[in-house]
Amino acid sequence: MESENTFRMKLKLILGDQLNINHSWFEKVDKSVVFIMMEIRQETDYAQHHIQKIVAFFGAMRNFRETLILKGHQVHYLTLDDLSNHQDLENNLNQVLKDYVATSFAYLEPDEYRLDLQLKNFCDSLSIPYEVEGTEHFMTTRTELTEFFEGKKQYILEFFYRYMRKKFNLLMRLDQPEGGQWNFDKNNRKKWKGTPHIPAPYLPKAKNLLALKQMIELAGVKTIGSFDQDHFLYPLSRKQALNQLDYFCEHLLVHFGDYQDALHTDQLNLFHSRISFALNTKMIHPLEVVETVIDFYRTNKDAIELSQVEGFIRQIIGWREYMRGIYWKEMPNYAMTNALQNTNPLPEFYWTAKTKMNCLHQSIRNSLDFAYAHHIQRLMITGNFALLAQVHPDAVDQWYLGIYADAIEWVQITNTRGMSQWADGGIVATKPYVSSASYIHKMGNYCDSCQYDKKKRLGEDACPFNSLYWNFLDDKKQFFAKNNRMAMMLRLLEKIPPEDLEQLKLRAAKILSNPDDF
Ligand SMILES: Cc1cc2nc3c(=O)[nH]c(=O)nc-3n(C[C@H](O)[C@H](O)[C@H](O)COP(=O)(O)OP(=O)(O)OC[C@H]3O[C@@H](n4cnc5c(N)ncnc54)[C@H](O)[C@@H]3O)c2cc1C
Ligand code: SF4
Repeated sequence: MESENTFRMKLKLILGDQLNINHSWFEKVDKSVVFIMMEIRQETDYAQHHIQKIVAFFGAMRNFRETLILKGHQVHYLTLDDLSNHQDLENNLNQVLKDYVATSFAYLEPDEYRLDLQLKNFCDSLSIPYEVEGTEHFMTTRTELTEFFEGKKQYILEFFYRYMRKKFNLLMRLDQPEGGQWNFDKNNRKKWKGTPHIPAPYLPKAKNLLALKQMIELAGVKTIGSFDQDHFLYPLSRKQALNQLDYFCEHLLVHFGDYQDALHTDQLNLFHSRISFALNTKMIHPLEVVETVIDFYRTNKDAIELSQVEGFIRQIIGWREYMRGIYWKEMPNYAMTNALQNTNPLPEFYWTAKTKMNCLHQSIRNSLDFAYAHHIQRLMITGNFALLAQVHPDAVDQWYLGIYADAIEWVQITNTRGMSQWADGGIVATKPYVSSASYIHKMGNYCDSCQYDKKKRLGEDACPFNSLYWNFLDDKKQFFAKNNRMAMMLRLLEKIPPEDLEQLKLRAAKILSNPDDF
């Protein structure tokens, strides 16, 4: 680090997902402050991450360092291969505090419980003053959702979403929703059948990332997935993140809502924004994202329908903020929930994509190749199968936490344990997201080129989802006895003659005894 005086400095820590250049910390240059950033094994190894995820994080962090230095700030940056790197947060902090004879320490609120705890404990043992400040990123505080639902039995997303629309005056006409409706979800369920045309995905111009990848490999970090620099999807700077957002507005927003739930063998992105990495690293602010989208809609009203825009902003001001609120309300116990008492291991094919089930093969292949899958692949293909296969939520969490570039625990675990695996017993989702082949076929074309028959329940070529679905309902029915939203499914289960159900359960048992054979 270049500085006139490197002693008696104030040290401020920036974590890898705190790349918010508009934070008030960076407004003015203060020569008595040194910002600390570090690439550490603690973070590369707490889960087995996708290689592209680590490259993306380190690449974005390195760009952020450059931006800070260009603005005149002083930065102490430890690369993974720096010989003075202790590879864990506390030892590195102790070292730099000592080296700079620090007079104070400050950090920004981490979004993950484990880092929050680690930094709190670290500061408890400090002999110099310290401060904790907000990241100025989210649209709600950590406790706002808890306060909003105070005294309520259920935390219904829709109510929270309406509160957010009003609070930020987004798509509102006085106190009423623009278009007379809060939610256009029912419009957003189209299957994509080759039209409308899907533009090629936005590819940020990545600098040479091979050296970074090589450094990670040389360090011996265990990763998953593949890396192809020419198809690297992730913006690594704020400028690229803004370009990605503009690209979304100009090319994808027009059909976002309509095809939000669609699935297709040849289309990884469909009309999705892929903005989650930029958002979760805080290179871009959620309010800035939704305001840009709404502004674009206002100037292009003849071409873009309100339902497309509403569908998008609901994800960000609704689901994203809601999940964060649930995380801080429920942690740390949330990470131990297993309401359905599932115990099976995750099939090996989740790490290899080697399965004959086409929907799973395609969704996992995409994930391994790009560290990305869109929401319905995550929820209704990989998540659905893991739940039907009654996999232990710890194993499911570990997979989702590692494989996606946007996976940070606060948003991963609430989606996985809560929305997808119903491990929280219904805090996030009022009923489990499970389906047989019929939903998968309704929303996409995977079944058309699958060697299993989507309509068959029994027989060697019967789609495994079908027997697993009824088996799951039968195995877990006691957990749903008082759940009104499950009543129809359970009535259908009851109508299956016992001898047929027995056959279905035998087929399911065969699949579950060795899912990697299917
Ligand atoms: C099992 C499972 C695990 C998931 N893990 C993650 C994760 O680790 N990190 C993550 O950011 N999202 C996660 N999601 C939510 C969602 O799938 C991703 O945010 C989305 O697929 C990212 O792609 P996109 O940017 O193209 O999204 P788009 O479809 O374009 O949506 C726009 C934005 O809305 C937000 N959003 C949409 N749905 C959700 C949601 N359910 N929860 C929170 N934010 C949402 C995201 O910020 C997203 O970038 C998970 C969903 C499931 C079912
Ligand atoms: S038939 Fe079954 S396994 Fe094959 S793609 Fe359809 S749902 Fe998936």
